[in-house]
Amino acid sequence: MQIGVHDSIAFSFDPERIAGFLESHGHQCAVLEAGSSVEEYDCVVTFGHEDVLLDAPWVHCIRAGVDAFPFERYAETGTALTNSPGIHATTIGETVLGMLLSFARRLHRYRDRQHANSWEVEPYDATFTVQDETVCVVGLGTLGEGVALRADALGMTVRGVRREPKPVPGVDELFRPDELHDAVAGARFVVLCVPLTEDTEAMIDADVFAAMDDDAYLINVARGGVVAEDALLDALDGNEIAGAGLDAHAEEPLPADSPLWEYDDVIVTPHVGALSNTYHESVGKLVVANAERLENGESLSDRVV
Ligand code: NAD
Repeated sequence: MQIGVHDSIAFSFDPERIAGFLESHGHQCAVLEAGSSVEEYDCVVTFGHEDVLLDAPWVHCIRAGVDAFPFERYAETGTALTNSPGIHATTIGETVLGMLLSFARRLHRYRDRQHANSWEVEPYDATFTVQDETVCVVGLGTLGEGVALRADALGMTVRGVRREPKPVPGVDELFRPDELHDAVAGARFVVLCVPLTEDTEAMIDADVFAAMDDDAYLINVARGGVVAEDALLDALDGNEIAGAGLDAHAEEPLPADSPLWEYDDVIVTPHVGALSNTYHESVGKLVVANAERLENGESLSDRVV
């Protein structure tokens, strides 16, 4: 197959890495600059959308969340859009656990003080262990399961919010989305793992922050739009919650003047929770498998439109 690799992928990894992987599986690849014609390609692998991609028969997004893609335009032009689900359980699971452990063991505070050669010690009762604490995971797909399994392995009590009451490995207690307030009350951590949809937009609002314990932390590895950012700032300023770990933001890059940069107990990461040195291979395998399906006359897997 002729596969174009859109250079927007450079946010996540070097486009040449996935081009090399696809070539090693028998495909012909070229890295495409933004705005390049894509008509001659059977597939374009991309991070982001631009309208010129609609000239290709099949566009593969290297991300799990495709909320930034105009689905109706893909439907109109008949361009197939596939995404990359199922590959972020370990990376995001470890990113989230890193944030939980940092808040509990106060590592973020010591790293900050290191820049000032400071030996200042955290108050005795500011430190805790994640073992025996409760985490509430909102959304139990690939990300949520990855978080739940790892939290369970560290001896945490795991609550999950899920639309269907089907048991999930590592999850001790399930709640429905309309029980969100009960699910977050009493949890030391609330971890967001839902896609951004009409149902989940701003689902974490002032009422949810009010329901959370004042020593609880919000972790957002989903999408910025899932959280009402004004309500988050109010909750932080009003000490309604203890802090937040934010990999996803309402506006990305997070603006330089955002107040979120300033809090001692907010960890900001630039939407990198899923990155790793093998990301190009994980995505490449999805593309290779789907190309094989097409070549065998089968339909595409992970098709969004
Ligand atoms: P997934 O489709 O495997 O899982 C999403 C889960 O959320 C599904 O089980 C779905 O039923 C559930 N869900 C949807 N609406 C819900 C609601 N209102 N209440 C409760 N559950 C609900 O997707 P995933 O791979 O786990 O990724 C989830 C989202 O995380 C993506 O859509 C993307 O936006 C984001 N994401 C972020 C990063 C990152 O780098 N930070 C990486 C991967 C994914």
